[in-house]
Parts: sequence; C-alpha cells; structure tokens
Amino acid sequence: MKGEGYVEPSPFSLTIALPMLKHRICRNGHTVDKMDYRGKCFKCSAEQSKRSRDKLTKLSPWYACLERARLRAKKKELPCDLDCDWARARYTGKCELTGIVFKRANRKGGRCFSPSIDRIYPHLGYVKSNCRFILHGLNALKGSGTDNDMIFIASRLVNHR
Ligand SMILES: [Zn+2]
Repeated sequence: MKGEGYVEPSPFSLTIALPMLKHRICRNGHTVDKMDYRGKCFKCSAEQSKRSRDKLTKLSPWYACLERARLRAKKKELPCDLDCDWARARYTGKCELTGIVFKRANRKGGRCFSPSIDRIYPHLGYVKSNCRFILHGLNALKGSGTDNDMIFIASRLVNHR
C-alpha cells in the first residue's frame, strides 16, 4: 500500500546514483556493493570458505558423513561412539560392500556415489563395531532392512529385467 508520505523514487537515484555510491572493487578485482563484517568482500569470503571446505574434504573425505551420522544418532536417540579416529582408520575411499570408489556429492543433489555410514544392524545404533562406509545409494536401498533384504532386492533387480 502506498500510504501517506510515500515518495515515488526518482529514476535518477535508482539508475545512476546508487551504483556510483555503492559499487566497490576489492583488491582481488571483484565488483561488489557490500563488504562483510570483517571488511572483506563477499565474493572473496565465499571463495575462501570454499577453499577451506575443499581442503577439509580432501584431507578427511569421511568427515561430512561422520557428522551426519552423529546427528542422526542424536535425533533417533541411538547409541553412538563414532569418532574421527574410527573414521580415519575405517575409511578406504571405496564402498565396503561393492568396492565402488566414492565420489563427492555434487551441487545438483547427485549423492548416489558419495560415502555414507551404514548401521549393519540398524537397532544397534552408531557404534564402531556396527558401522561401515557404503555408497549413499546402497544405504538408501537397504533402508531399515537387513543385508539379506538388500541382496535379495538387488539380485531380483538384476535378474528380473
Ligand atoms: Zn573480492
């Protein structure tokens, strides 16, 4: 609603004055209209956090799925003793059930080949002796079933087509 006191913005202020006042060029050559709270440009900050995320993923590719598993344990009130030492020792870069090499999840939501932590017996929770790294897609297929359920479905899928 255009109430009392409403002033139509003048075309001058929108098209000419604002860009001149607000646009700045950072020392890395980004043209931005705002700086973040540290006085850094937003594009530089985004690039920096992506670099540190990439570094963490490269050094510890299991880290994100360990965090997700811990959150699921908390949410479902299941026992959990998984830690970084366990993950570092257990993770080989390949799915423990299929031998397929893990791939990072991509931005479009393609995480079928990314690693996930599977509870061998779902009711025993996220304890070290009950957990392993398998493909996200395979874990989704297994759901709350057993290994035998998963193998039965997979073999029917292959043989039924
Ligand atoms: Zn910048």
